[in-house]
Amino acid sequence: VKAAGRDGHRLYQPAMLEAVKGEKALEADLRRAITAREFELHYQPILDVDTRTIHTAEALVRWRHPVDGLIAPDRFIALAERTGLIQPLSEWIIQQACLDAVSWPPGVQLAVNVSATQFKRGNLFDVVMQALLRSGLNPRRLQIEVTETVLLEQQSEQLQTFRRLKAIGATLVLDDFGTGFSSASYLTNFPFDKIKIDKSFIQGLHRRECAAVIASAVALAKGLGISVTAEGIETETQFEDVRSMGIDFAQGYLFGRPVPYDRFMCPPMIQDDL
Ligand code: C2E
Ligand code: CA
Ligand code: CA
Ligand code: CA
Repeated sequence: VKAAGRDGHRLYQPAMLEAVKGEKALEADLRRAITAREFELHYQPILDVDTRTIHTAEALVRWRHPVDGLIAPDRFIALAERTGLIQPLSEWIIQQACLDAVSWPPGVQLAVNVSATQFKRGNLFDVVMQALLRSGLNPRRLQIEVTETVLLEQQSEQLQTFRRLKAIGATLVLDDFGTGFSSASYLTNFPFDKIKIDKSFIQGLHRRECAAVIASAVALAKGLGISVTAEGIETETQFEDVRSMGIDFAQGYLFGRPVPYDRFMCPPMIQDDL
């Protein structure tokens, strides 16, 4: 809410001032937290549907705030992207995730999420390469999860980054499939190896529309020779339904919540509350 002052300057009402201050304060806090290394990676299993064994672990970042406790990524990733802080944060995430993954059984892959801004800065490939070299992780164990919104701009630059990542053996995953404008056209224009159907469709499985989106996503993927993951599976019924529809990989609270590194591979998995 703003009003024009007598001299033409805009006067900010308390509500807006608070919002601006809030964003600035949060940015400063985030900047401090990156230096203080207040972030943690939690890992969630992705199962091979046929064997029901762990195929991949997805790294999901959390902020261990000294005052506010554990903060979910939805509350700081967007701000990190707007302020450019995603760059140092992502470098830490990719590096740390690769270091963690080398200690897992070699059959288990690592999935990391990457942001749109990392493609725009154009150094994602170098960041990934450095993490692989430092950790010694086999690039064939690395999956890069990209959401559709990443792809709207600068197609040729992204395509080049994708090709370079694929050339070293990494897997490209189209995340949140079905939530964008033209999911299908991304698959013909970019060399994805896998799609991950957004959890909103799994949660809405009882509705004919959601079931239809899942069925057509599976048909599309099979036609292109790529594999399909369903995320957000919370019940056996949902699992049976997506399994019968032909998905290859499954992820969700039914199989395990995201947990810190030191609890990931040692059962029983103690689950966090995010
Ligand atoms: P995403 O990549 O789609 O990750 C899946 C989200 O669904 C995670 O939330 C996960 O904890 C949650 N989830 C998993 N299984 C279930 C389930 O059965 N039911 C429900 N209701 N939720 C489930 P989280 O960890 O809060 O992450 C939210 C989003 O933040 C991620 O969505 C991703 O877009 C972003 N994010 C997380 N970590 C990173 C990161 O390291 N880098 C970047 N750039 N983004 C990240
Ligand atoms: Ca993801
Ligand atoms: Ca998702
Ligand atoms: Ca998401």
